[in-house]
Amino acid sequence: MSCIFCRIVSGAVPSDKVYEDDKVFAFRDISPQAPVHILIVPKKHVAGLNELSDEDGDVVAALVAVAGKIASSSGLKNGWRLVANTGPDAGQTMDHLHFHILGGRKLTWPPG
Ligand code: 5GP
Ligand code: ZN
Repeated sequence: MSCIFCRIVSGAVPSDKVYEDDKVFAFRDISPQAPVHILIVPKKHVAGLNELSDEDGDVVAALVAVAGKIASSSGLKNGWRLVANTGPDAGQTMDHLHFHILGGRKLTWPPG
């Protein structure tokens, strides 16, 4: 299995796990861009938002619902951001769908 995030989900590559259920796995980003920087991925391999199919609706709903729970349990009362970089212009570097949770500092808008 060549996908690093699939290997993190399986446990073959170690990660700092934050949350796991039957559909979703969340872990701390190895190169945090904010005091709280957590990645949320589907256990099923999907390359990115452009590759979602009609049957993936429950997975997307689970990812977003988990994001809210993690933000809450991480104490991000003052705000946080959910980001899915998609394609080269957005700087997507990992071809396994992932949402970034970013928080714990004032975030700039618009992003660069
Ligand atoms: P993207 O640039 O695709 O939106 O986000 C990929 C993220 O994955 C980056 O923030 C990067 O730091 C993170 N990342 C890449 N490889 C690993 C890894 O092996 N472990 C962890 N925890 N994060 C990783
Ligand atoms: Zn994968």
